[in-house]
Amino acid sequence: MGAADMAVIDLDRDADLVSLVEAYQLRLNALADQAAAMIRDAFLSLPEVRDHLLADFIKEASMIVDAARLEGADLATGLVMELAGTMPKPVDLVFGAVDLDAPFLRTWHQLAEGQPFPDARLSGASEAERLGSNAAHDGANNRMAHTGLRVVGARRVLSPNACEWCQVVSVQRYRSVESASFGHGGAHNKKNCKCTAVAIYGKRDPGLTLNKRRYAELKASGGVKRVNEGIRAPKPSRSPQLPPGTDTTDPRVQRLLNLEF
Ligand SMILES: [Zn+2]
Ligand SMILES: [Zn+2]
Repeated sequence: MGAADMAVIDLDRDADLVSLVEAYQLRLNALADQAAAMIRDAFLSLPEVRDHLLADFIKEASMIVDAARLEGADLATGLVMELAGTMPKPVDLVFGAVDLDAPFLRTWHQLAEGQPFPDARLSGASEAERLGSNAAHDGANNRMAHTGLRVVGARRVLSPNACEWCQVVSVQRYRSVESASFGHGGAHNKKNCKCTAVAIYGKRDPGLTLNKRRYAELKASGGVKRVNEGIRAPKPSRSPQLPPGTDTTDPRVQRLLNLEF
């Protein structure tokens, strides 16, 4: 078999793997949407948003979160089997604490800010959605990170509507699934940017191809803005907030402004 034949076979293989990752993302996002809708419904079906209903809500939300994590983990197990060509080891996944009271707290906060109850409640409902959506992705990323299999790296694989920040940070190859998925699950998830961490096994790195394709699609649709600039000099994720009236010509203030966060 000549070198040209080998190249053709490798390309075919990569295309197959890319389709697998695409299918994985679609299914994971469908699961995330479903869990989000379930917790949102649980929250909105409450007759009121008061203390005495919080414990029941947390109980229900917690069951949905657990189920979404498990299903997300199962989807990841399926993908890992295909990519690694072997069954990942069974593991007990450990998850961090989740703020299941967030929909209540958000509603109360908005009320305290003077928002009318129907709007405050809808704001709380968006927090409920976030809990469900994050659970599915947390389950998948956690499983992807804990398989007992040797990985050579990981990619942050862009979703079709990835935010600018993810476009910047997805350019590089990461050493671990944890590092490839950083930022997701936090405040960043409010951007509805559902990128997925995918491990690299040996030479199987479909995330690289998929990211190039997504980037081209985002560029064609105008979704790529200051990204090229960002790759050369990543913007600090948060800039120091100066109190009004601060003398910005003061050398100490200048130093603060030049700090990288
Ligand atoms: Zn993003
Ligand atoms: Zn993202």
